[in-house]
Order: sequence, then C-alpha cells, then structure tokens
Amino acid sequence: MLSFLLAAGAAKMAQPQAEPANMNQPKRPRGLKPTEPLLSRKDWPVLYREGIVWDAHACLPLIPNADMSPLQRHREAGVTYVSVNVGMDFNPLADCIRVIAGFRDWLAKHDDHYCLAGSIADVARAKETGKLAVSFDLEGSMMLNDDLAMIGLFRDLGVRQMHLAYNRDNQIAGGCHGEDQGLTDLGRAVVKEINRVGMIMDCSHSSRATSLEIMQLSSKPVVFSHSNPSAVRAHPRNVDDIQIKACAETGGIIAINGIGPFLGDDRTETILAHIDYVVKKVGAKHVGIGIDYSFDQVHTDLPPGEDAAYWWPKTSGVDFGKMAFVPPERWPAIAVALLKNGYSEADATAILGGNFMRVAGESWT
Ligand SMILES: [Zn+2]
Repeated sequence: MLSFLLAAGAAKMAQPQAEPANMNQPKRPRGLKPTEPLLSRKDWPVLYREGIVWDAHACLPLIPNADMSPLQRHREAGVTYVSVNVGMDFNPLADCIRVIAGFRDWLAKHDDHYCLAGSIADVARAKETGKLAVSFDLEGSMMLNDDLAMIGLFRDLGVRQMHLAYNRDNQIAGGCHGEDQGLTDLGRAVVKEINRVGMIMDCSHSSRATSLEIMQLSSKPVVFSHSNPSAVRAHPRNVDDIQIKACAETGGIIAINGIGPFLGDDRTETILAHIDYVVKKVGAKHVGIGIDYSFDQVHTDLPPGEDAAYWWPKTSGVDFGKMAFVPPERWPAIAVALLKNGYSEADATAILGGNFMRVAGESWT
C-alpha cells in the first residue's frame, strides 16, 4: 500500500510539470501490456455489449471507508457484475463488518453508476441502466467465529458468495496450502446453512478433499470462483480433472482467473487455453471468469502480527507487487478471442456471464 501511495503521490506531483506527448492519447490502465490494443466500445462484439458480463471475484483494499471508484475500470470495460472480497480468513469479524459498512455506504452514495445487487433481477436491471452491479464475497469462514447465525447476517449485508478456507486449514475446512483436510462437523453444517440462506457455494482456495466433500454435500451448484485447471498450469491453487468433473456434476462453474502464478503467461491466449481445457472436459456451460484483479496488489489486508509467509507460502509463487494481474480492460478482448477461437455466440455468452446468472438464480433464492 505504501509503495502504491508513494507512486500515486509522485504521479500527482509530476502533473503540473510534464506535458504528455499526446494529450489525446488515453492513459494506459495499469496492467495492460504496452503493445496490447485497448478496445474501444465500438470494437466490442455485439454479444459482449448486449449480454451479462460477470466477474466472479475482485479485490479492493480492505480498509474502512474505502474508495470503490477504481471499480470504474470494470464499468468502462463493459462488465455488468463484479463480486468484491470483504474479508479473508486472517481478517477478524469486526474488520470485515467495517469494510462492508464502508462499501455499502459508498455504493449508496454512488447509485448513479453502481448498485448493490441482491438478486439476478438486480443484475439484469443494472445492465439495462448502464450500472455496475456489485455484491460481496468472503474468502474463508473464520470470520463466522464458529457461529452459524453469522452466515444469514452476512447475506443480509450483501454477501452472496463464500468459500470456507483461505489457503490454510481452519476449524471448518481445509485450505489448498494445508494438509488436505476435509470438512469438520461444523464445516458440514456451514455448507448446509450457505445453501439454506442463499449464497453461492465457492471452493476456490480450499483443499482438494474439502472441495470434493462440499461438492458431494451441497444441494446447490458449487463454483470455483477463481481457479484454473492444473493440467494447464500445475499449482496447488488450481483444480484437477476430478474436481472439475465433480463441479460440473453439481451444475456449477469453474471460473478462470488472471493471476500470474496460477495462469502462466498473462496473455489473452493463455486465458483461452484454460477456458478451452475446461470446456473440452465438461462443456461450455460449466465455465466462467473470475479475473481476480487486485486494485491494491500489496498485502495491506494482512493485520499486524500475521505472517505473510504462512498465508502465502513461498511455493505458492504469490509475490504481491511483482506478480501479474490480468486487468479488467482485458474483458472485451476475451470476448473477441472466444469468437475468434470458434466458440458459438451462445457458448461465448454463457462463459462471459450467462452461466453465473443461472447459478446465482439457483443459489441466491
Ligand atoms: Zn482469492
């Protein structure tokens, strides 16, 4: 965060002095490669302009009274809906509540361009009125403080998706960098409660054993909101063929992310390679996208005293400030690439957002 602020401050101070070479040249968004074309609205495929575009996961800094205006990048890129993280396993309950309070307040004050979505009707309305629909997700379950009643409360506050462990094992479930622990008794009760109150059941960041158990237990479709196939990129955060098939059998979705260590090379072609792989295994109706763009890119969300090397072990390759993040501006290019690679308009529309509309429709009720 500090380096980000310093960079932002330096950019501000430099403004009065240097005149840009070409005033008409739009500023290149952070994360977009220098040679990559920034597609303007007129270059977007019709199905992209007219369909629901669903980003299953993004991260803003988890601080009270946070400014959500960086989400303008999603809006301008034609995204209809984005799920924003409001807490990970290392964030205490009180901090998660403060973050939610700030986000809700910001969204209410910026309702000309944004809305807090609680239903797929809200998402459809946002599309019609040119707004960005937002709801919240939890990355882990330790903020429940072992209290099942917290799940309904989080839902009332706008949380519509959660997974049960963030990288490490906890009292409810196993994390992908843990001992491949399954669900505990409490974990099984949590899955049922998530189904009951109406949230999307998410298995990203969970251990393989936990994810397989959840997919067997859940009465609703289960998603991996931001996980890639390990056959394309071997990584503990990624999912194998058995997990992919089990997910599809629940009616769920494997949503491809744009994080360097899990993706490989951060090119659109690489994203397509991940999409292609899952489509070949289980079909286009079980594929989505959760780019997981981090607007912060340094782990300021870690409370004092927490060890970054525990939550993101060296073997994970996660190195905030250095690793690549596919930016939201890449969304239209992904739509173009899907069509160029031979996907039908129906399949491309499903992958870009239609599948998540289906799963949210089944899960949020
Ligand atoms: Zn994540």
